[in-house]
Amino acid sequence: MLADFHNHSCLSPCASLEMSPRFIAEEAAIAGIGMLALTDHNSARNTPAFATACQKVGVIPLCGLEITTAEECHVLALFDAPEPALEMGKWVWNALPDITLNLDRFGDQPVVDEQENIITMIDRLLTSAIQHSLSEVQDETHRRGGLFIPAHINRPSFSVESQLGFLPPGKYDAIEVLAPEANKYQQRYPDIPVITSSDAHAPDQIAKAPFYLETTDTTISAIRKALRKLCPTK
Ligand SMILES: [Zn+2]
Ligand SMILES: [Zn+2]
Repeated sequence: MLADFHNHSCLSPCASLEMSPRFIAEEAAIAGIGMLALTDHNSARNTPAFATACQKVGVIPLCGLEITTAEECHVLALFDAPEPALEMGKWVWNALPDITLNLDRFGDQPVVDEQENIITMIDRLLTSAIQHSLSEVQDETHRRGGLFIPAHINRPSFSVESQLGFLPPGKYDAIEVLAPEANKYQQRYPDIPVITSSDAHAPDQIAKAPFYLETTDTTISAIRKALRKLCPTK
């Protein structure tokens, strides 16, 4: 099936307000996506609405966050239900600097339900770096049963390569690479699954760069196994 592991809803201050969880799920279903993740910056608060919306249109939801580590690396933490994602989100919130969202610079951060009603507005800026390091976020994600995937590692900002200059050894369930260089990175890292993602922030970016994942079982351990099959060495 086509899988897309990295998408932002209206809760992300940099994403379009049109990106409600329901809208993303419906548009991805039309585009033929079978497994879809929501990964707002440092928050999973829109994943309950997202999971419900996905189930209504026959898409398998993954509930996650795109966490900004202390090194300012973006990484994905993905779970197969909203509850563990929300629990991870509390751990992240407790390590997130208390900086008030500047509405002149950023958009609103609404938490919404599956009918697109606003439940609450988050007024702490969600995109800041948290106090935990890359390896601490990795260990916490795994301890809570999630998938840990460094995001857009070949992007010139907020990536492992831009911040550290190299990919340190780690227990990566996959690495996400900007599409044009995916093959090059799979050759460079033959033992790590390489995926592409849309990182959609606006309607026209939905389902633009999914990858193919072969799995019928949709638990995290089955997805981890299916990801391993992407490696040429497996
Ligand atoms: Zn990012
Ligand atoms: Zn992103």
